[in-house]
Amino acid sequence: MNIGIYGGTFNPPHLGHLLLAQSAADQLGLDVVLFVPAYVSPFKNHEDMLPAALRCEMVELALSDNRKFRGEYWEALREETSYSVDTVRYLAERYAEDTLFLLMGEDTFRDFHLWKNPEVIAGLAHLCVAGRPGHSPGDAQHAFADSAQRFTMPLVEISSTDIRQRVAAGASIQYLVPWTVQIYIESQGLYRNPRS
Ligand code: ATP
Repeated sequence: MNIGIYGGTFNPPHLGHLLLAQSAADQLGLDVVLFVPAYVSPFKNHEDMLPAALRCEMVELALSDNRKFRGEYWEALREETSYSVDTVRYLAERYAEDTLFLLMGEDTFRDFHLWKNPEVIAGLAHLCVAGRPGHSPGDAQHAFADSAQRFTMPLVEISSTDIRQRVAAGASIQYLVPWTVQIYIESQGLYRNPRS
């Protein structure tokens, strides 16, 4: 199988995330895309960062209508900040018979060389990068730039930051997140207070 690994904070998951994953599945021939919400320590006092359990619940809701998409909660369940290299190593062992593709947006790829052991990651998974508004392929000026596989997606200027700000301002987030996620955010009263 061809397996996509898609890490992020997903705070909350939005249609940009889903479009990226679906575009990757179509163009790279992926059988499965694993969404991997990052654990972020509650003691770090990240403004607006919801606990991992709530972000995992939203990811689960966001993926429920796509049989190729799955939540992979290894990082969240470890309850310690994980390096991508650890996650990719774990998945490479777990899916030893399969081919791994690490998916990310252009903004994330720009700093890929600064990650822990990027050469190990690149040895275990194909690096696959989607465009993002405001970021061009030339942004990544590092040794991994030429070997990364590019795929296209409908460019959407949606970010979790914008969604959190909209909720805090009382504005609508309809059509920016899956309706299941919208209802969850509304019913739980998430992001209403900028430090919720
Ligand atoms: P925040 O605004 O909180 O920083 P975000 O919207 O960038 O969040 P993340 O969960 O941090 O979302 O992103 C996970 C991955 O998805 C990253 O690789 C990022 O580049 C990519 N991504 C997120 N939104 C988009 C988008 N609209 N278009 C393309 N890539 C995206």
